[in-house]
Amino acid sequence: MKTIKELDIEGKRVFIRCDFNVPKDEFGNITDDRRIRSALQTIRYCIDRDCKIILASHYERPEPGKYEEKFSLVPVAKRLHSLLKIKRDIFMAEDVVGESAISKASKLEAGDVLLLENLRYEAGETENDPDFAKKLASFADIYINDAFGACHRKHASIDAITEYFDAEHKAAGFLMGKEVNFFSKILEKPIRPFVAVVGGSKVSGKLQALTNLLPKVDKVIIGGGMAFTFLKALGHEIGNSLVEDDLIDEASDIMIKAKELGVKFYLPVDAVVAAEFSENTTVKFLPIQEIPEGWMGLDIGPASTRLFREALNDAQTIIWNGPMGVYEMDRYSKGSMAMSNNIAQTHATTIVGGGDTADVVQQAGDVDEMTFISTGGGASLKLIEGVSLPGLEALKG
Ligand code: AMP
Repeated sequence: MKTIKELDIEGKRVFIRCDFNVPKDEFGNITDDRRIRSALQTIRYCIDRDCKIILASHYERPEPGKYEEKFSLVPVAKRLHSLLKIKRDIFMAEDVVGESAISKASKLEAGDVLLLENLRYEAGETENDPDFAKKLASFADIYINDAFGACHRKHASIDAITEYFDAEHKAAGFLMGKEVNFFSKILEKPIRPFVAVVGGSKVSGKLQALTNLLPKVDKVIIGGGMAFTFLKALGHEIGNSLVEDDLIDEASDIMIKAKELGVKFYLPVDAVVAAEFSENTTVKFLPIQEIPEGWMGLDIGPASTRLFREALNDAQTIIWNGPMGVYEMDRYSKGSMAMSNNIAQTHATTIVGGGDTADVVQQAGDVDEMTFISTGGGASLKLIEGVSLPGLEALKG
């Protein structure tokens, strides 16, 4: 993988695809700016070489064409400015490839930084549209991909855009280089037992990952909303808990495959259940077998925390991706916080992936105890699975 250091960027217009998809609280405050801090090295490198810098990122999932303020990158520009500790302003475009972006990009001077608005305001981004990519590419002479967290997606700013730059004009940024190097080292020969802890809500995105992970790991621990699809597959009544009914068969197949491969598979044995998806409601701690009709599991319970801690005891390598519950609400955050503490206390090499999970580790005060906190959730899982990342492939061509 070519990195930015191998390119001649002096004084050039450089487009840097970053991953500024940072978690925010209910008031819109950035709760974990790791992804912004991780981008600083590449940005500073370009500032020091008198480049005109155009930064781009997606932020969450706005409806394309609708410029809703809550998805704007303005707060990111402010945080970036304070982290870069530079006197000059960061210019913020009001659109992605429209008049504001074009006009501001054309006025950039050496060392100036312009941040485009949320790439996903434009439908062309997720559609990997060549015309949209061409417009993005027209801003710059050099393309740098430093968005490790978005590299598993074949989107215009990751994939199609690279068609407009030859090998001497595109490369990976420093963050990307660091992430990829770390994972290739770990995966070459993981020290065993190798345990994967997977949580979060999106079952659909993670089942394929689990299937690919099974031959590589010794134990799998499942928590979060995705656990309920597996629990339902085992015949449990799960009330109104999050479930993806069309994936129940696939979840069963994964458990059968785990058994065949001798991979130990752990699911929650109890849950914090609530009458509705809110903090201000009645909450009970119940065994999985006793979830009342109409109630929903929003965190793993204390018995599951204990079980998972036992399962982690002899681990030598742990990857953790996805919170154990709705950690954004205090009442349902204990399972995730305890998981962070328990992982931090092992003697294993510990790798945390994904914005939410990194946020949990930060809130739990365990950042320094983890071996590596990756800025990419889906992307790091894909690397561990051994699946090639579109963003890396695109840089090769
Ligand atoms: P993901 O994006 O798939 O990693 O999922 C992260 C999200 O999963 C977080 O925002 C959590 O609030 C959510 N989550 C975790 N556990 C549950 C649960 N039991 N029910 C609903 N959502 C959950």
